[in-house]
Formats: sequence, structure tokens, C-alpha cells
Amino acid sequence: MGFGGNNNMNIRRTLNEIIKIIKDTIFPAHCFGCDTEGKFVCDDCYRTLDLSGVFCCPVCHVHNETGRPCIACTQKIYIDRHVAITPYTEDALIGDMMHSFKYHYAEDVREVFARMIDDFFSSHAIEVDAIIAVPLHRRRYVERGFNQSEIIAQFVARSLHIPIVHNLIRSRHTRQQAKLHRDERLKNLYNAFTIENPHELVGKRILVVDDVFTTGSTVSECAKVLKEAQVGEVVSFSVARG
Ligand SMILES: [Zn+2]
Ligand SMILES: [Zn+2]
Repeated sequence: MGFGGNNNMNIRRTLNEIIKIIKDTIFPAHCFGCDTEGKFVCDDCYRTLDLSGVFCCPVCHVHNETGRPCIACTQKIYIDRHVAITPYTEDALIGDMMHSFKYHYAEDVREVFARMIDDFFSSHAIEVDAIIAVPLHRRRYVERGFNQSEIIAQFVARSLHIPIVHNLIRSRHTRQQAKLHRDERLKNLYNAFTIENPHELVGKRILVVDDVFTTGSTVSECAKVLKEAQVGEVVSFSVARG
């Protein structure tokens, strides 16, 4: 890249900064927690978030220390363990943050998630070889413009210094899980995912990343195809757990 390219990049960066200043002036950020002007989550409200981790059976929600399924539940789910940073409550600060992250164009709230992830992993070790974000189908990606799991996965990758791989593909468009009952959810997900280049994953420990974990049926379906591809261990990670 010559001088022209660098100049163009500098101009673009300057433009982005100007746009940000204008945006902040017209639509100043207000804290989701206390409405103070300045940041999407002020430092005082950030400290109210419980970042101590949620470790419980991914099926029946009984608390334990590892996030592994209890013996009776092992047959009902394909993931080996689930780890979340914080409990999910819709009408609390975390719920507002998630809603804004998913449905509005609030880029700055992403940085709050990045901070939560860095803080969490600075005191919780997790040993995996690669990270996979729960994929969105191309059609939904086009509707939304981004995959929220991919953004979370990028922050986790940066925090843990572990690469993201893209071997898991959403092969079939599915209806939105949130609108379905549990039985319908499982039917809806049948054959929704496929693996590309499965030999790359043999014996690996994979961290499957999502934004919120509720019934776990989507992640379990991902884990099922990963296990069929001879993956060694599937750990599920989400920022919040319902
Ligand atoms: Zn606040
Ligand atoms: Zn259980």
C-alpha cells in the first residue's frame, strides 16, 4: 500500500472520529442503569453487574462448580459444560444492554461486553484450543447486519488469545427460536448446522460462543455436529444465562 492508501485510511479514520463527535453531540450516550449522560454503562452501574460466573447444569440449572451436566442430565444435551459470566434478567441492566446490543445500532455497548469478558477471564481460566461463534443464517445476517455471537467471540478470542475458526456452518434457515416451544425448537434445529473440513477439529477442545444461553437447544445442536466430527470437548460460553 502506497502513500495514497495510507492517506485514504487516515482520512477515513478522521471522518469516523468526526461522525462519532457529531453523533455524541446530537445523541449523547445515557447510562442504561442510572440515565447519567456520558457512557452507556457508567462505572458505578458497571460495578453492580455480577461477574462472578454462572456454573450450573445446562439442562436442569442445578448449581455446581464446573457447569457440567449432572449425571441424570448428560443424555439430554451434547455440550460438556456451560460457563456464563452473569445471570440474565430481562428487566435489569443486563437485559437492557442485551436488547440494545441485539436490536439497535449501539456500537458503544459492545465495549461494555468486551470489558465484562476481560474482567471475567482475568479471574477464570478456561482451557480450549479454538473458538466457534454460533453462526447466523446468511438471510438473518443480512437482515441484522451483524452476528452478535461473532462479536462476543471476537472479544473472547482477544481476551484468551485463542483463534476463532469458521468450520461450523448454518446450512438451513430456521425460524426464530424465541418464538417456539421446546419440542418445536428441537425440530426447528434438526440438521441446521454442518461442519466444513472436519479433520481440522478432531480431538480439539472447542469453545462455542453465544450471547445469551436460555434452553441451550441451539448450542446443543451445534455441539452434536461437532461431536460427530470427533471434537474432543465442547464448552459452551455465553455472556449471560437465562
Ligand atoms: Zn449508571
Ligand atoms: Zn441437571
